[in-house]
Amino acid sequence: MKSYLLKNARLVDGSAAEPSEPIQVLVEGGKVREVSKNISASADETIDLTGKVLMPGLIDCHVHTIAAGASFARNAELPDSLVTARATLVLRGMLMRGFTTVRDAGGADYGFKCAVDEGIFLSPRLVISGKALSQTGGHADFRGRFNSRPEVQYGFPLGALGRVCDGVPEIRRAAREEIKGGADFIKIMANGGAASPTDPIHFLGFSREELLAVVEEAKNAGTYVAAHLYTDEAIHRAIEAGVHSLEHCNLIRPDTAEYAVDQGCIAVPTLVAFEALASEGASVGFSPDSLAKVEVIRSAGMESLTIMRDAGLPMAYGSDLLGELQRHQSEEFVIRGSVLPPHEVIASATSVAAKLVRMEGKIGTVAPDAFADLIVIDGNPLDDLSLLTRQGQHMSLIMREGVIVKRN
Ligand code: ZN
Ligand code: ZN
Repeated sequence: MKSYLLKNARLVDGSAAEPSEPIQVLVEGGKVREVSKNISASADETIDLTGKVLMPGLIDCHVHTIAAGASFARNAELPDSLVTARATLVLRGMLMRGFTTVRDAGGADYGFKCAVDEGIFLSPRLVISGKALSQTGGHADFRGRFNSRPEVQYGFPLGALGRVCDGVPEIRRAAREEIKGGADFIKIMANGGAASPTDPIHFLGFSREELLAVVEEAKNAGTYVAAHLYTDEAIHRAIEAGVHSLEHCNLIRPDTAEYAVDQGCIAVPTLVAFEALASEGASVGFSPDSLAKVEVIRSAGMESLTIMRDAGLPMAYGSDLLGELQRHQSEEFVIRGSVLPPHEVIASATSVAAKLVRMEGKIGTVAPDAFADLIVIDGNPLDDLSLLTRQGQHMSLIMREGVIVKRN
């Protein structure tokens, strides 16, 4: 594997409001070996980064890899082969936007992780939940009002976001099966959703007993539960049950945000998903019912950022886009930057995200022993977060685990 010496690198990793003084970074064997003012060791290639900014590869904590189409109901009917082929393009697109690790919050299976590790196609590193768990009529039940055919219990289509389980024994079994199948964490649908047909936003997903049971199963396996949540009531009750990763949180109130801080939770806002659906949802087939739900969630989103920041609740980066809307993945940076300081926005996709996926020190940082996941920006994103958007146009170099996957 080729080694690289990066010279005159001004580092932006979200830990400071200004880029660092110029440093040198030695990359060897897929990892960062040394970071210092002056490195005497030589490398196969020296790259001068004068005038540019070096960042750790970005981390998106809420994606749906298998969602090449915006309709999950239709996606679940596609053959696995087609879902897989399309997902490789979705993943490649994410990597080319500078995301070197993504956390799939429903859909992708362990086979994808194997394929990525084998280097079969260009992709970010994957952290997966397997299928998201939903109650009957919940956010991963796409059967619709007049479809009462039983949900499949085994052999879920790859294109399905989630699976349905009801009652404590079923949710325990489902969680155990996902963990057995290679899930890194468990995702549950604990609130109504926009894309699903029969659950208004205010619906609470799962009983308290089911929530407690699934949290116990995750903890038994040394991991945590992430929950789809919008309303303050749903968020509060999820925290009470021990849920750690709070997805969306658009309607959170200050008391609940403080409670989340006390319990050590991390929130994953995904505001860009609602902005994209509001402007393009109809054209990708979202129903008027779904779009009305989107508007309720979207309009509260910006205030939620202020509430969570004031409470001191850490926020990881999330995008949650479906189908062709995935091209907006990086615009969450700009949306958050209209309310939050730029370095905090960047930290959401570096240090905070690394903590959430439990890879602190390995990703989201440029430090000895971290994976050499690096991006080079033509300009300073602390001055202009939009340098991280436009499909990686301003990224002159993208390196994943020591391999350059893009270079201008
Ligand atoms: Zn969700
Ligand atoms: Zn999602």
